[in-house]
Amino acid sequence: MHRFAETAEAIAGTSSKLKKIAFLADYFRALEEDDLRAAAVFFTGRPFALTDARTLNVGWSALVNAVQGLSGASDEDIHQIYLDRGDLGEMAERLLAFPSGRGRCEARARQGEASIKAEGPNPATIQSKFSDLVKLSGASNKMPAVLDLLRSLAPAEAKYVIKIVTGDLRIGLKENTVEEAIARAFDRPIDAVRRANMVLGDIGETAVLSKRGELDKIALGLFRPVKFMLATAADTEDEIFATFPRAFYIEDKYDGIRGQLHLGEGRAALYSRTLDDVSHQFPEIVEAVPALHARSLIVDGEIVAFKENQVLPFALLQKRLGRKRPPAALIGEIPVSLMIFDILTLEGRNLMDEPLLERKKVIESIQWPAPLRVAPFMLLEERIQLEPFFEQAALRRNEGLMLKDAGSLYLPGKRGMSWLKWKKALATLDVVVTGVEFGHGRRRDVLSDYTFAVHHDGKLLNIGKAYSGLTDREIADMTEFFKQHTLQDYGRFRLVEPAVILEVAFNGIQKSDRHASGYALRFPRILRIRQDKTLSEIDTLDTVEKLYNRHVAGGRGAHT
Ligand code: AMP
Repeated sequence: MHRFAETAEAIAGTSSKLKKIAFLADYFRALEEDDLRAAAVFFTGRPFALTDARTLNVGWSALVNAVQGLSGASDEDIHQIYLDRGDLGEMAERLLAFPSGRGRCEARARQGEASIKAEGPNPATIQSKFSDLVKLSGASNKMPAVLDLLRSLAPAEAKYVIKIVTGDLRIGLKENTVEEAIARAFDRPIDAVRRANMVLGDIGETAVLSKRGELDKIALGLFRPVKFMLATAADTEDEIFATFPRAFYIEDKYDGIRGQLHLGEGRAALYSRTLDDVSHQFPEIVEAVPALHARSLIVDGEIVAFKENQVLPFALLQKRLGRKRPPAALIGEIPVSLMIFDILTLEGRNLMDEPLLERKKVIESIQWPAPLRVAPFMLLEERIQLEPFFEQAALRRNEGLMLKDAGSLYLPGKRGMSWLKWKKALATLDVVVTGVEFGHGRRRDVLSDYTFAVHHDGKLLNIGKAYSGLTDREIADMTEFFKQHTLQDYGRFRLVEPAVILEVAFNGIQKSDRHASGYALRFPRILRIRQDKTLSEIDTLDTVEKLYNRHVAGGRGAHT
């Protein structure tokens, strides 16, 4: 991992995208296949490929304990350095490089070992150690393996391995830059590399096939979920009409969860936004598939709670989300539907490269058995007022509108300008909880007050605190969770692992030095826990600044 860490440092040290690509391409070119497969994945900040559902389940406190054990650092040091660096990997590097007390003996022993094996473990070895970690259950069983892993690494390597374990590399490298580096390293067309990564959902495999010159062998596969196409937020009607000079579709924006349905080889499966198989969670959707006349297809839609011809509030769907295998009574009480708005393949024909206009025609040509439903759409060819559509959507309990360029292709994993989302609500932000506090009165024994942060330049900056919005049940669950994931316990306040993503709504935004972000939110409240989003997907300080500028400029409602 020595070269990996060196390359990561070089990438973090430059803001030039071209230089980042060059450093990474040089590194990739020198690797054997197995190391290339692992390293390409690691550079996207993940331990395993996107389509690989395994999780390490090594929490922040386990990592902190391990680093503390190896370095001999005091609680005070840990706290100070973590606050200073705001990153567990950086904290580990610093503490392992300057151990204290019994940590020094550990370090000397490690140096001795390191001089015997001049080369540290390579990326493939680290990934196989990750695989071993997955197989161990329970924090106490995992701890010896975590210690073993960290012992085998130099401090600079430990820094990056920890960043990969926590799922966030924070070196200013996006997945599309990794794709460009692969294209450069092996002299392949960037479009071919991107397409392969979209279809495989595995950048490691993409890198290996690029090295071998076998990119053209990849076909869109059934039961291999494809990354979802994403939308960019729009603020005003002017912005929407300026983005789409040609015809575009208007659809309701449903407040549910994304679903990709695959049918073929006599079976069906449903995948979530995180590409996990959720077929068992929504049996009524997969069970409807045999009634379809088609033999093979992949469609994209939104799973919503739906009864008596109308969408039910998200809070009801949430009851279903809590159950991996819902009992029949719950399915009867809160049935779900898949609102289909796109189609990727039909009978082996790849439709992703055909315009949306064509894909919509294909959707309409199919008879969909309930609870599979076509999400109603309308083609707009000239400028009219969108506001009334908004109101209609809200009356149907939907959260806004989606606007889609009629000529656009389906670009998996891409948040481009072909799809816009326009939300009517007050501004909302996706944030991560960094600190929790016991409440007052009835809530004095539960952790009900949450301090939360946004991302900025690889750091988490607090921006507010919310007390309301969750049910008693959710607060009880959160209390249990945060007790298990506490980094520092200060009595009534605890610093916690940044693992819980919340969607918060608020009424205003102002500059303030109360929080590290330099902003404070007015009347923040929790809309929901975003189990479908990860730390790398939370909002950034840039978004906050944009909202602030609009707010002080007296703009109408703000949307994200
Ligand atoms: P957001 O989660 O706020 O980034 O909004 C994008 C999400 O809206 C998508 O990932 C879908 O899950 C959801 N959505 C709801 N209705 C639609 C629709 N008609 N077309 C596309 N996405 C939709």
